Amino acid sequence: MNDRPDKHHRKETLRLIRERQRAEARAALPLADGELRAMFDELDRELPIHGCDRTRRLTLSFLERRGLRAEAVLPWLDDNGCFCDCEILANVEERWFDCREDKSRRPNDQRKSRRQFKFPGR
Ligand SMILES: [Zn+2]
Repeated sequence: MNDRPDKHHRKETLRLIRERQRAEARAALPLADGELRAMFDELDRELPIHGCDRTRRLTLSFLERRGLRAEAVLPWLDDNGCFCDCEILANVEERWFDCREDKSRRPNDQRKSRRQFKFPGR
């Protein structure tokens, strides 16, 4: 192997930093994994039908129907730059996926079609 020790060390440091970031992201999740997955799935289904009206109305309606606390979720969406339904799918879904322990569903597996949708006003 021509891997120099310092190079190996740098890689290990990066890995640890990244692992810490993932742990912090996990700790910041406002809902259980199952609820978040259901929320993303619903946005995936509903956004192409209704389009994004630059609000979080689909997300809010999901939370309300499930009896989940929007006050806990909205600040997390704010922190992640998600101010409308399509930004939630664009910005936060993969981050959520990435920070999870359970990698059972890759976001790009069956869902490549999503990014081809054009939302009104874009
Ligand atoms: Zn949008």
